[in-house]
Amino acid sequence: MAERHETKQWSVPNSEPLMNHPSIKEAAEWLKQGKTVAFPTETVYGLGADATNEAAVQKIFEAKGRPADNPLIVHVGKVDTVKEYVKEIPSHAWILMNEFWPGPLTIILPSKGVFADNVTAGLETVGIRIPDHPHAIALLTLAAIPVAAPSANRSGKPSPTSSEHVMDDLKGRIHGVLDGGQTGVGVESTVIDCTLDRPMILRPGGVTKEEIEATIGPVDVAPSLLKDDDAPRSPGMKYKHYAPDVPIWIVEGGAENMNKVANELKQQGKHVGFMVSQERAQQLGVEKDLILGERSQLNEMTSRLYDQLRKIDQLNYDIVLAESFSKIGIGVALMNRLERAASKIIE
Ligand code: AMP
Ligand code: MG
Repeated sequence: MAERHETKQWSVPNSEPLMNHPSIKEAAEWLKQGKTVAFPTETVYGLGADATNEAAVQKIFEAKGRPADNPLIVHVGKVDTVKEYVKEIPSHAWILMNEFWPGPLTIILPSKGVFADNVTAGLETVGIRIPDHPHAIALLTLAAIPVAAPSANRSGKPSPTSSEHVMDDLKGRIHGVLDGGQTGVGVESTVIDCTLDRPMILRPGGVTKEEIEATIGPVDVAPSLLKDDDAPRSPGMKYKHYAPDVPIWIVEGGAENMNKVANELKQQGKHVGFMVSQERAQQLGVEKDLILGERSQLNEMTSRLYDQLRKIDQLNYDIVLAESFSKIGIGVALMNRLERAASKIIE
């Protein structure tokens, strides 16, 4: 059982100087004291705790209801601290850090064992990144400790892209939340294993495979991402995250196919929702409550996905039909999250 707390909310607008801000100083102090503090990053809100403090990290697992075998990503404010935490930084990892940090790329490296055991779930490796968000950077710099931070949602819920989402899920279960507005990317970081001779993408995310390959050449993609695979390399990928209570079916093959499926469901008396692009909504002439955006604006659609997934449970649908988008660039991450939320794909 998670302890109950008052959850303090610090609202800090971007316009204020962050490095000396009393609220961020307090939040940083709380992290150092072993408390749990949620904070914005450019991907989603994270739930942070001191990565060297086992009891503090335990509070993350309890607040989220997260399985203990799912390791946490460690967030740092400065690149030069990384060598204190890992045995080795291979040359391709250096290049990636220089190119994409701060940014939505988590790099898996061989751990030196500095972090609490529950951070790495008993693995010999650890995932590290520097987030690209002014509040996160200020918080991490002021705390000057490595901060373990998974997404700040209850396990099984979509990751939070606003402090309201964090409060909806974790109010009373965590010590505080630093509010820095909506997050930008809207899906989690890309995870890449750099302990292998040829790096391997374990989770698609904010940095695309194309961008990575443009800097270090060809990389592998975890087999579990290519087809159903029983042995995911990235421990978290075996869990079905993000699923709303209302079933989502992804319908491939254009508006005609979607119409056909919808009509069959309606004949069975089902109230059908549509999570689609603006263009598809127009073609179908449907209600506009779950629109992701213009089809050409993949980044924007991706940034809205989790908010729309959260909305589904508040609307009165029996079932939601979702559009299938092209798996190019950020579309790979978008479709990965959508497929993990869906219970069925109709070709
Ligand atoms: P979250 O912070 O909720 O986005 O989840 C972090 C994810 O990063 C985990 O679910 C894992 O899939 C992945 N991850 C973290 N650390 C490692 C590691 N040492 N090796 C492989 N994957 C990791
Ligand atoms: Mg998560």
